Amino acid sequence: MTTEYLMPTYNRFSIELVDGHDFHLQDNTGKVYVDFTSGIGVCNLGYHNPATQAAVTEQLQHVWHVSNLYPHHLQTEVAALLAPKNYKTFFCNSGTEANEAAFKLARKYTNRKEILAFNYGFHGRTMGSLSITGYPAIQDGFKPLVAGAHFSGYNDNKALDTINNQTAAVILEVIQGEGGVNVGEKIWLQAIEKRCHDTGALLIIDEVQTGMGRTGYKFAHEIANLHPDIITVAKGLANGLPVGAMMAKAQLANTFGPGSHGNTFGGNPIVMASAKAVLQQLTPSFLQTVQAKGKVLHTYLTQTILPLSAVTSISGVGLMIGIHLEASVEVIEVVKKLQGRGLLTLSARGNTLRLLPPLIINDEAIKWSVQQIKIVLEMEK
Ligand SMILES: *Cc1c(COP(=O)(O)O)cnc(C)c1O
Repeated sequence: MTTEYLMPTYNRFSIELVDGHDFHLQDNTGKVYVDFTSGIGVCNLGYHNPATQAAVTEQLQHVWHVSNLYPHHLQTEVAALLAPKNYKTFFCNSGTEANEAAFKLARKYTNRKEILAFNYGFHGRTMGSLSITGYPAIQDGFKPLVAGAHFSGYNDNKALDTINNQTAAVILEVIQGEGGVNVGEKIWLQAIEKRCHDTGALLIIDEVQTGMGRTGYKFAHEIANLHPDIITVAKGLANGLPVGAMMAKAQLANTFGPGSHGNTFGGNPIVMASAKAVLQQLTPSFLQTVQAKGKVLHTYLTQTILPLSAVTSISGVGLMIGIHLEASVEVIEVVKKLQGRGLLTLSARGNTLRLLPPLIINDEAIKWSVQQIKIVLEMEK
């Protein structure tokens, strides 16, 4: 398939995916794959999810768009289902926009300029979010960036000393996704939160990849018992339609008064119809099934993949997993070989094979997929 009319912003594979059902995808030659990507943590409820499909089909018969000058009941319903108690929600269209909104809100609310982010944290590619994304390679060529961003080592206690009464906010992922599935240590995360409270800095948790049930919890910060001032989500919120949301504690909300921030499409009724159906399926009992599947996956990986000479370690929580490979094994070659065997996987920084299966995956598919990974990694080293 030709991509010559497109900007070459991605190293695209040659497979064109045209259809799917639950956790299977099909390419334009009819070949079927088990999906361990969810389109990078987006289609968490799989393909052709009946409830989201019905909700979107229903809303298509009504308005597709109304200006945010008018209220829409679906926005209210989604905000009520999504946010923790006493948070208010701002809707946008992507993860980077959600973090952009968080950055702006934090500056305006605190009247401070500085923001602390972490090496290999990923928050998006618009100028604000890019400025707090800790990858020199992603920032290269786009400077000058937004002033006031600082970086520290993730899980590094030195970060605590850099948070002070000039700090508007600290932004972090509870598990760094693009950065290589690096799990934040609970004690460190709690120390960061305490330091924020002591200095009046806001704590922004980017749940764009970790949220919406990915870890077996609605939000990953629940695992570390954090109380962020601001939470951002996107990817999995509408199971494949473009959406983002920033939730902030209610006392911050007046800072975003009329005219202070906004966007045309945020909270679009078609997208909200899907998000509502997603949230209605994200019940405590569903989240328990995700935790159980995460345990099954982790157990198989520990038994069959961890002992392989190609593997250095395995990290992750729930259905967000990183398999860290020896330097001599090229992760992208592993991804391609797995595609050949009918399994779609992702890579992440640090030669990491990243697994983000739809949350509706089953034990049989988990077992089969781990077996494919084993076969390919054994051939590699
Ligand atoms: C993907 C991602 C983003 C950016 O989301 P976009 O919708 O691509 O703008 C931000 N933060 C995290 C943690 C992500 O994984």
